[in-house]
Amino acid sequence: MKAVVLAEPEVLRLVNLPEPEVGPRDVLVRMRGLGLCGSDLGVYRGAREVPERPWLMGHEGVGEIVAVGADVADRAVGQQVAIEPNYCCGRCAACASGFTSACTARVIVGMNHPGLLAEYVAVPAEFTWPAAETVALEDLVCTEALTVARSAIRRSDVGPGQRVLVVGAGSQGLLLCLALRALGATVAVQEPHEGRADLAHSFGAETDAEGEFDLVFETSGVPQALRAGLARLRRGGTALLVGIDSRPLELTSADLVYHQHTLKGSLIYDHPVDFETTVDLLNRDDVRPGKVLQARFPLEESAEAFASVRSVAGKSWISFD
Ligand SMILES: [Zn+2]
Ligand SMILES: [Zn+2]
Repeated sequence: MKAVVLAEPEVLRLVNLPEPEVGPRDVLVRMRGLGLCGSDLGVYRGAREVPERPWLMGHEGVGEIVAVGADVADRAVGQQVAIEPNYCCGRCAACASGFTSACTARVIVGMNHPGLLAEYVAVPAEFTWPAAETVALEDLVCTEALTVARSAIRRSDVGPGQRVLVVGAGSQGLLLCLALRALGATVAVQEPHEGRADLAHSFGAETDAEGEFDLVFETSGVPQALRAGLARLRRGGTALLVGIDSRPLELTSADLVYHQHTLKGSLIYDHPVDFETTVDLLNRDDVRPGKVLQARFPLEESAEAFASVRSVAGKSWISFD
């Protein structure tokens, strides 16, 4: 089967690999689409360490089940599925409490476990999510990124009618706008890039809103952008941090105490609740995240796809069809 591997930083190679073996609790997925995000770019550029090279990248994958393992009873050949690319152990204290994003033995597809940029992948059945046939491939490709956005929303307790500021309108910011609008919040974005701001506007976000906000969702990872966002958060308000960056934040305890702000980090999603509810939304046609996809590439042009991640407003993706 064809696959694309990272030979060294920023060097991809189209190779032939043997088809993966399907364990008794796995399904074999014929890949159809793969979304790219900043984490993939980190691996591509060599900023994020991987166990070995050549390395199979990619984690936002969807496709069709073409075989099921002997012990799999609740998945069937022909189903289209989104892959949940974080396999929690299910046994540690974090997993037992439902806080699986904090699992210390988490298998992270494309990061500490081989990725999905191949024609066929074997995935534990429990981490594949069947979607209705009516769900368009483009919408399904956004499942994982939308789930990241929706779990931040779940952890924030935001409700209908609240005023929310989304900082940064990259693909995560856009999906947050979409999901927040879907639950009835009023959404504004803080985004200096005109093309991204325009795209956010088309997702239902105000681009020139004034006044204070009940909540802030930070997606850019830029310390100054968070600071500017916090300046618009009302007293007693909460900021959810989704963007990741290693620079120190420009904050004092006086900033936090006087404004009684709560800062909360939100990492990926918890199994199974967040994927379950996101796929449910897609099945009911309540959200159409596919419009965040703004650049499509065939597998053979994976290098161009990765190179485009920062420059494209919206999301780049690879189509296997
Ligand atoms: Zn991602
Ligand atoms: Zn665990």
